[in-house]
Amino acid sequence: MPGTTPVEDRQLLVDLGAITGNVAALCELVRGSQVMAVVKADGYGHGMVPAAWAALAGGAGWLGVADLAEAVALRQAGFSVPVLCLMAFGDPGQAIRRNVDVTAGSAAFVTAVEAAAVRAGVRARLQLEADTGLSRGGATRADWPAVVEAALAAQARGSVQVTGLWSHFASADLPGNPSVAAQLAAFADAVALAEKAGVTPEVRHIANTAAALTVPESRLDLVRFGGACYGLSTLPGGAPSWLRPAMTLRARLALVKRVPAGTGVSYGHRYVTSRETTLGLVPLGYADGVPRGAAGRSLVSARGRRWPIAGTVCMDQFVVDFGDEPAAAGDEVVLFGPGNGGEPTAQEWGEVLGTISYDLATGIGARVPRTHTGGDH
Ligand SMILES: *Cc1c(COP(=O)(O)O)cnc(C)c1O
Repeated sequence: MPGTTPVEDRQLLVDLGAITGNVAALCELVRGSQVMAVVKADGYGHGMVPAAWAALAGGAGWLGVADLAEAVALRQAGFSVPVLCLMAFGDPGQAIRRNVDVTAGSAAFVTAVEAAAVRAGVRARLQLEADTGLSRGGATRADWPAVVEAALAAQARGSVQVTGLWSHFASADLPGNPSVAAQLAAFADAVALAEKAGVTPEVRHIANTAAALTVPESRLDLVRFGGACYGLSTLPGGAPSWLRPAMTLRARLALVKRVPAGTGVSYGHRYVTSRETTLGLVPLGYADGVPRGAAGRSLVSARGRRWPIAGTVCMDQFVVDFGDEPAAAGDEVVLFGPGNGGEPTAQEWGEVLGTISYDLATGIGARVPRTHTGGDH
């Protein structure tokens, strides 16, 4: 818990209990559908392995990752639940050997999966991705029949088992956007075509966080929750308040100094003090994931209120103007957290900077020490 864990000089604090609680609440919400926790990109910056354990403790039955190396890393860490790799590139051999569900959105990748399965002497678990309108991964409506045919031919030869059919929304975070219903209908067509051809999937799925929260009929057999597990979402206004952001980014002031009026601060002197004031140095910079665009914004919480970032955010540090506040070296500064102590959230940082909370959470640099609390692993 942020309130009871000692503050380090700089620290990314992850409340695993929040992830477990969020996943438990999400399982309750979508009762009747299975829940996949998406832990790609190092668990949205929270630490892939501890986040995955926390999600399973909350009731998730599946884990989702973006690439094959992430899937293999989950197996090496001891996860035996179904793992789906969402992107189709690279050599799937190692993942197939470890019983990972791999995705194909082209006949060529079905062939690559089959070849790897034959080499490994195993039957590969294969999910087929339909492009129903995102125009990212997956097979277009025109290409889908050939992908299904290739997968069924490989299945007949015993080298693959088609375990799932899935797609992904373009605009589920724009509530009411007509593309959501159009993609649901297109996915139903793709599923019907595949099942008519003889595919018997274990799971059919299309919903991410935004869709599962706002369009109940999108939940189908399985929901792929990413951001929601961590208390984040791409919906306007962020995640609902019953989800708790799990990540806190904080530091201790490395130096405090009194300076006269007219003092230029940080590179380019883009900030000049208007009066005698107290400056505090925060040992986090853009290499640690603090965007340069945060200059001038009141996005830092310390001593019970917000303070402006004074001047340019540097690679390793930035300066805060504390006015006549008796700030002292060693004082705790919170950049973002769950928000219940008045501190900004990653959602607020995203809104101010013209991006999304996921961008902040996944962008914290490797040299910021990670502290995990509230987990069993
Ligand atoms: C990242 C991702 C998800 C999870 O999305 P959230 O918005 O974080 O829930 C689900 N499905 C696919 C295909 C993804 O790439």
